[in-house]
Amino acid sequence: MELTSAEKKGYFGEFGGSFVPEDLQLVLNELENQFLKYKDDPEFINEYQYYLKEYIGRENPLTFAENLTKQIGGAKIYLKREDLNHTGAHKINNAIGQILLAKRMGAKRIIAETGAGQHGVATATACAMFGMECVIYMGKVDTERQALNVFRMELLGAKVIPVTKGQGRLKDAVDEALDDLVRNYKTTFYLLGSAVGPHPYPSIVKHFQSIISEESKRQILEKEGKLPTAVVACTGGGSNAIGAFAHYIDEEDVRLVGVEPAEAATLTEGVPAVIHGFKCITILDENGEPKPTFSIAAGLDYPGVGPEHSFLKVSGRAEYVTVTGQEALEAFQMLSKVEGIIPALESSHAVAYAVKLAKELTPNDVLIVNLSGRGDKDVEQVFGMINKK
Ligand SMILES: *Cc1c(COP(=O)(O)O)cnc(C)c1O
Repeated sequence: MELTSAEKKGYFGEFGGSFVPEDLQLVLNELENQFLKYKDDPEFINEYQYYLKEYIGRENPLTFAENLTKQIGGAKIYLKREDLNHTGAHKINNAIGQILLAKRMGAKRIIAETGAGQHGVATATACAMFGMECVIYMGKVDTERQALNVFRMELLGAKVIPVTKGQGRLKDAVDEALDDLVRNYKTTFYLLGSAVGPHPYPSIVKHFQSIISEESKRQILEKEGKLPTAVVACTGGGSNAIGAFAHYIDEEDVRLVGVEPAEAATLTEGVPAVIHGFKCITILDENGEPKPTFSIAAGLDYPGVGPEHSFLKVSGRAEYVTVTGQEALEAFQMLSKVEGIIPALESSHAVAYAVKLAKELTPNDVLIVNLSGRGDKDVEQVFGMINKK
């Protein structure tokens, strides 16, 4: 996909940009140059497409959720099946894309930070595949809560470094990873996991995730002969949503709907501010620091959101709504029972809202729900939540 002028500059309205120290800025400038050099290079594209197909298992289906549609009795609901990707979610699309870029740039070592561990696992997987050294920074508190994901990363050959500085949380892990990058930029590539961070990361992540809507657009035209009424995706940092929206942004008649957890409703309750090196809409505490959030879906627990979503919200091109953890939990069970598909708790937020929206629409309407991941990882947590009641 061609980069828009906004993506090239790194500004989406007032949002985005790069608010980092000078030495880090030099590293980011070089990353931008290399990305622009390779993104349209036919060999690079071929290689990316090879791994999408042979390793990730794309293209994945756009499944008509016939039982769910019948049960609800409104719009036809289609599911874009990112849950069927290798490793069970959309994050691998971006991890493979960035690691191919890292290889071209001569990097021998990949670093990343992770909160819940999902991005760490996707990164460790890609590193194992490409024989790269892999270092994952993770807040000490998070390594204790996500011990199984730490073990998973170690199985894949990664070194997980627990960060004890500060509060030992995601933000501190980000700081450590950036320090590492500045010290080791000659050999090291920082693989960022969502459509956030300083320019050029949001544009890079969107580029690699836009495969989702490239496929879904082709698939829906084949199946329905028309574009969908709306595309619905859950929004944490915003990478699966921006990938699911990308090829529809210029199609003014297609509604774009981002679904946030009511417990981490960044775009609904936040204000413009600079966090983690870029400007976005974010929830701040009374001291002006990013406020910790508490969603049942670990992957949606981020106080900020990508700059392009911030702009799509302010400009009115996309709608952002919230559903509660309880509603997501019900959607998790409903989709499992009715379609035989256990969705990730993150994706369950999108399913929950799609069910509400479908009821307001007619059988002539078509909804695409981006099923960002599978729920196997969440079964134990849901077991605990249901049995507590
Ligand atoms: C990480 C994750 C998300 C949230 O991240 P985005 O960058 O907002 O897409 C959503 N769904 C699943 C399954 C995830 O693993």
